[in-house]
Amino acid sequence: MLKVLMCGSEVAPIIKLGGLGDVLGSLPKALEKLGVDVDVVVPFVPSAKIEGLKVYKSLVMEVPYGGENHTINVYVTKLPGSFVDVYLLKNDTFFYGAGKSAFLNTPAETKVFSFFSRCVVELIKTHFNTYDVIHCNDWHTGLISHILQDELGLERPATIMTVHNLSYQGVGDTHILTEVGLDAASHGALEWDISDGDVNFLMQGIASADFISTVSPSYARELLAQEDVSKISQVLTSRHDRFMGILNGLDYSAYPRTYDGSTYQSAKAGAKSALLPELGLTPDAAPVFSAITRLDPNQKGLDLLLEVIPTIVARGGKFILLGSGSTEWEANFKAAAAQFGTEHVAINTTFDTQLAERIYSASDYFLVPSRFEPCGLTQMIAMWYGAVPVVHAVGGLRDTVKEGKTGFLFEDHSSEAFTKALAKCFATYASPLHSDMIKECLKADFSFDKSAKAYKELYEKAVQIRQDAFAY
Ligand code: ADP
Repeated sequence: MLKVLMCGSEVAPIIKLGGLGDVLGSLPKALEKLGVDVDVVVPFVPSAKIEGLKVYKSLVMEVPYGGENHTINVYVTKLPGSFVDVYLLKNDTFFYGAGKSAFLNTPAETKVFSFFSRCVVELIKTHFNTYDVIHCNDWHTGLISHILQDELGLERPATIMTVHNLSYQGVGDTHILTEVGLDAASHGALEWDISDGDVNFLMQGIASADFISTVSPSYARELLAQEDVSKISQVLTSRHDRFMGILNGLDYSAYPRTYDGSTYQSAKAGAKSALLPELGLTPDAAPVFSAITRLDPNQKGLDLLLEVIPTIVARGGKFILLGSGSTEWEANFKAAAAQFGTEHVAINTTFDTQLAERIYSASDYFLVPSRFEPCGLTQMIAMWYGAVPVVHAVGGLRDTVKEGKTGFLFEDHSSEAFTKALAKCFATYASPLHSDMIKECLKADFSFDKSAKAYKELYEKAVQIRQDAFAY
């Protein structure tokens, strides 16, 4: 049986900071169904939710870092709803401050996760080096392949690095390498990287893993096609034959739904008439356009969202935003609501998963104008709840939404192109085509089962690569 250790900074529902947590919480369960023996390892951060779980100490390890040994208490629990073992590594000196935000990506965090990477390698050794594959996720785990290579040489397990978002790279001070015990001179990619004064964890993960994947086929193509001369792009391009995209999936058990293609009309109408007054919007039959997103102006196309609000209101639609993040953009959207009427525009800047579910269920259309989107979960969740997505044709959005069937796509990242796509919504709202599209959305299947098969094949390929290397 293929034995895999999945490593990362979060695993839902125990630690959920962002989309990565969802993936690490769902993929192992889908792999388990395919007969893969998966364990997960994450740092035991103070925000970990362990109430109701059976958590026990299974091992004490001494981990060398910065010239001394550090004690790690290894706790173990099961990923809820499965027999997947989750190892929680406890060391308050390093992990006490971690786990507050998914996107800190700061030099201090690079030190924390260099230590985590060293701990993961020690954990692999305590398992008698019997894992076939170490599946690393994002920059937090970028140094693991190098450390494994130093510790176990040709006998090391195969490694996969999955890039969930290339814009978060984890750039740290080079002295981290001394602390973690890596000699740059014996790793060509490291030596080249640090010549400009810092170390890029994600780039090192990409350079050193046996195989690299990202979270949608289109995002993989886009990353290779971009005319970017940064070192990380050069490394990725040089490894294009070891790089592929596998679409993320959804764990539908996390999204209860009470209706289907034959019952959605009354259910969605009920959800809408409950939500509009709750948000202070006029309760009428106008089309409802929503967005639920991190307010990240670099990625999420917030400028485009803001620019289409007047058009939506002028054409008689309602606009709902649930989003938090940049305070500047929270203020921009609140100002738009004040300008165009809080009976037509509702802005909520909390993080509220239950409100999110009510919005998905009540919405006619769901807007995702991201400038780039590695995979994106919100368009898939929206489809599941029968809200037709209107998306920028990029990354995972392009791979999941079918024009005129399950949504509308726009190619240029401009408010003109977005407005044209919205015009299609107004032209077809409440028409038979709209009903057909809702039914198609409700039928779409983005469960992790399909992607898990692709990951299993990838693991087998990586194992073969290691075996070939070992044979020579
Ligand atoms: P990303 O990982 O880039 O933030 P995704 O589309 O992959 O984007 O995942 C976003 C997830 O976070 C979705 O489950 C979405 O419903 C949820 N989400 C985003 N903002 C909020 C919010 N303010 N309240 C509740 N859920 C949110």
